[in-house]
Amino acid sequence: MGQTDIKARLFVDAPLADGAIIELPSDQMHYLLTVLRLGVGALIAVFNGADGEFAAVISQAAKKQCSITIGAQRREQVYCRDLWLLFAPVKKARLDFIAQKASELGVRVIWPVRTDYCQISRVNDDRLAANAIEAAEQTERLDIAEIWPFTGLDEALASCEDDRLLIWCDEASAGHPSLNITAALAAAPPHDKAAILIGPEGGFSAAERAYLQARNNCLKISLGPRILRADTAAISALSCYQSICGDWQS
Ligand code: SAM
Repeated sequence: MGQTDIKARLFVDAPLADGAIIELPSDQMHYLLTVLRLGVGALIAVFNGADGEFAAVISQAAKKQCSITIGAQRREQVYCRDLWLLFAPVKKARLDFIAQKASELGVRVIWPVRTDYCQISRVNDDRLAANAIEAAEQTERLDIAEIWPFTGLDEALASCEDDRLLIWCDEASAGHPSLNITAALAAAPPHDKAAILIGPEGGFSAAERAYLQARNNCLKISLGPRILRADTAAISALSCYQSICGDWQS
C-alpha cells in the first residue's frame, strides 16, 4: 500500500494488532466521514503511542457508528529524544501554541511549572494533551508528548536527574555573546537527557536565579539581544537544541 492511498492519520486509544476492530469515538467519526467525506473501504493510518503505526480500513460507517479494521504494521514504535520543556504557563491560546509547537519539535515531556512571578493558577491538562495528540497526528510522530501536572519549580527541578542537562533560558543574559545558546549548546557536555526551562512574563525571581546559578549541570543561556515572549522563547530554544544537539542531526 503506497503512502498516497492513506487518507488520514489518527491517534487511537486502543491496542493495535493486525485484524483488530476498533470503534471510533464520535469526533473521529465526524472527522473521517463528514470532514474528509471518506466511506467504507478508505485507508487510513493509525498509531497509539506505543505499538507503532498500522494501516487500517474503514470497515463500518453507519449513522452513529464507525469502525476500522487494523491491517499490517507500517512502522515500528520509536520515541522522541528525552527532552523536557519546563515552562511557566501563559494564557490560553499561547499555552495551546506552546503545547502544539513543543510537540511538533519533538519534546518528550511538556511540564508547566509554577514560578514565583507566574500569573496563572490553573492549567487544563486535557486541553494540553489534545494539542499534543493533534500535533503528533500531523507530524508523523509515533509517540505522544506527555503532559505532566502543573508543579512548583522547586519540585520540578528536584525531579530533574543529575545527568539531565538543564538549559536555563535567562532573560537577564539576553544579548551576552558569551552565553549565546548556539555556542553554549555546541560546547555542552555529551548528554542523553535535557530539559529546557522558560520563565514567566515577569521573569525569574532573585531567589530562583540564585538557586539556578548554584545548580550543577545547569547551562545558563541567552536567546539573543531581544527579550522574547515566553512562547517565542520556548520555540526558539527547542529549535536551537534540536538543530545542535538533537534529532535535526539525524
Ligand atoms: N519580564 C522579563 C524581562 O523583562 O526581563 C521577560 C520575561 S520573558 C517575557 C519570558 C521568558 O522567556 C524568560 O523568563 C526567559 O526564560 C525567556 N526569554 C525571553 N527572552 C530571552 C532571551 N533573550 N534570552 C534568554 N531567555 C529569554
